[in-house]
Amino acid sequence: MDALAPGRGPDVRFPRDHAKIASPGAPSSRHPPDARGRAHKKTIDTHSTSWYSCQQGGSRSTRLISAQAFLRGVDSAQAFLRGVDSAQAFLRGVDSAQAHLRGVDSAQAHLRASIAEQWSPRRFEELPTTRSFMFTQKDLDKLRHELTGPLLQPGSTGYAAATTIDNGRIRLQPGVVVLAATTRDVVCALRFAKEHDAKFTVRSGGHSAAGYCLNEGGVVLDMTGMRGKTFNARNGTLHAQIGNTWSDLYVYLTNTGTGLIPVGGGCPTVGIPGFMLGGGVSFVSRSYGLSVDNLISIDIVTPDGEVRRLSAASSSKEDLDLFWACRGGCGGNFGVVIAFEIQLHKPHTDKMLVGQIRYPIEIAEELLGFYNEWIQKAPRELAVYGYMGNAVNPAQPQQGFKSIGLTPIFNGDTAQGMDLIAPILRFKNISISLYEMTLPDFELMNGSVTLVKGRQAYIRSAFLRPEGFNPQVAKILPDFMRRAPSADSLMVWSHCGGKIGDVPRDETAFWHREAPFLWELKAIWKNDYEMVDNVDWAYAFGDALEDHMSGAYANYIDPLLHDWQTKYYGDNYAKLCEVKKQCDPTNFFRFQQSIGSDFQPSTNQPLDLSPLFRTYADQPRMGARA
Ligand SMILES: Cc1cc2nc3c(=O)[nH]c(=O)nc-3n(C[C@H](O)[C@H](O)[C@H](O)COP(=O)(O)OP(=O)(O)OC[C@H]3O[C@@H](n4cnc5c(N)ncnc54)[C@H](O)[C@@H]3O)c2cc1C
Repeated sequence: MDALAPGRGPDVRFPRDHAKIASPGAPSSRHPPDARGRAHKKTIDTHSTSWYSCQQGGSRSTRLISAQAFLRGVDSAQAFLRGVDSAQAFLRGVDSAQAHLRGVDSAQAHLRASIAEQWSPRRFEELPTTRSFMFTQKDLDKLRHELTGPLLQPGSTGYAAATTIDNGRIRLQPGVVVLAATTRDVVCALRFAKEHDAKFTVRSGGHSAAGYCLNEGGVVLDMTGMRGKTFNARNGTLHAQIGNTWSDLYVYLTNTGTGLIPVGGGCPTVGIPGFMLGGGVSFVSRSYGLSVDNLISIDIVTPDGEVRRLSAASSSKEDLDLFWACRGGCGGNFGVVIAFEIQLHKPHTDKMLVGQIRYPIEIAEELLGFYNEWIQKAPRELAVYGYMGNAVNPAQPQQGFKSIGLTPIFNGDTAQGMDLIAPILRFKNISISLYEMTLPDFELMNGSVTLVKGRQAYIRSAFLRPEGFNPQVAKILPDFMRRAPSADSLMVWSHCGGKIGDVPRDETAFWHREAPFLWELKAIWKNDYEMVDNVDWAYAFGDALEDHMSGAYANYIDPLLHDWQTKYYGDNYAKLCEVKKQCDPTNFFRFQQSIGSDFQPSTNQPLDLSPLFRTYADQPRMGARA
């Protein structure tokens, strides 16, 4: 009798070996023997046939065989029971392991909850991050009287909008927001902050990844009201005030009907100052260089309250140095920029070949391996950017799935572009969307995809070494993306090289001219309690790329980046500190990672997340490094 035969044996099924031991005539596990090895009732009944045969009938030898058979039955029952014992011991082990794991889970949950609580933005807001500045109403009224633009205090209409930025993780309450309407407003706000020894930061597009455009308790100078622009058809240049976003300029230039374009941002809502002061990597940078390589002049209010025009034609060494520093040295460091004069370009064709090809993430390693080799031979008119993250299943729009995408932008004839990108169209893909359109149209259509849009985010970046997506990198990227704690997170890369690399590294403050690709990770989540897991993941992701990176991008500013001075600015950092000392001797323009700051995040585990909640640093008047 097979103890495991359907409907006959015990409900609990044992491994096959036990079944063999139990058969034939093995006792049911429902009736194990007592401590002395005697089988319980049903078992005795089963075996009593043998015992009965042994007692009652047959010859002596038959009875002996029968007795031996009985004993074999007992042996086999005992063996079975040993099996049961050992299975039970095993299950007890499993139980205790499970209990242990439940304990670990609950300890981890507890730890996560306490870390989340510790770093809850709401809780942190209650703590004084640095000194909180209070202004008297009399002081504010006096300032209001001097300004052309509005002055906003907590509770005023417009205050919430002025202090809300793309990254919803940043929730800071400045004491006052000055909405500058004129250069004079800028000078007044600057002087007011200095007189009160108050924190002072400048906000334009409000896309600083770390929220360095805001501060807690001090003065925020909001430049979004200054949106004037003048097109000079003769030189193909544009003079644009700093409150303009890229979409403002795209729409304005499209309306000139000239087809001229700036070397601008892929995201239409990004402000021109933050983008350009950090360098500015554009879809057409391989054709025309960085955004700062196309900067003719800068109008700036320096910390001493003077309004200056900086350009390559400036006569003083101080202004020339400042012009150098403002091209890659990052926003918020050297003064308040009022306007830029920008060189525009006529693309090779009116419309470009643009679009995106989406592939399943399963082929990411293979695709990246191919792309890495293939793209090296691409002409500078072709840029192929990349994306990895969730894609929507068109058949079931609620359902996302991980994908990898390539975004070609060809500054030239469409047919030639199609020939160039043919190899990447041959890979197994999910969708191909290609268009012939002007670059500004493409940027307006496509550029909002990577916005945080008020959710919470932590952003990391890496300029990759010349090997680019080597086999390790090609494996790290999809491996980490698959493990993203939030489906909203994404990574992108910009395709650099071409004209960017034609400019020597010390000609402007932008150092990373030789990197083939700029990688950016956006860990995005919705709720406060998700922060620790998402930041941990993003931090580990960036760490995994450490051996493959030559630095990081100051425009994707990262408060947890260790040795940020060298990673952002390479060997140009020493000169940046000199310029800073010269133009801002009291270190008035300062924030956590401003030039000259000796702030360094801790890399100990668990991570110290407090830098994510600070935008301003009460540095000594001049940082030790400067
Ligand atoms: C969706 C998205 C896409 C992006 N794509 C690209 C890209 O393709 N290439 C690229 O290079 N970057 C890109 N960026 C990064 C972007 O360039 C930076 O985030 C930039 O700092 C944003 O500038 P802002 O003016 O919008 O932000 P803000 O937060 O207003 O300013 C950023 C920094 O500059 C300072 N600042 C602002 N205005 C002034 C001023 N008038 N004078 C002096 N300092 C000032 C601020 O204090 C702050 O420190 C992208 C960002 C986003 C959100």
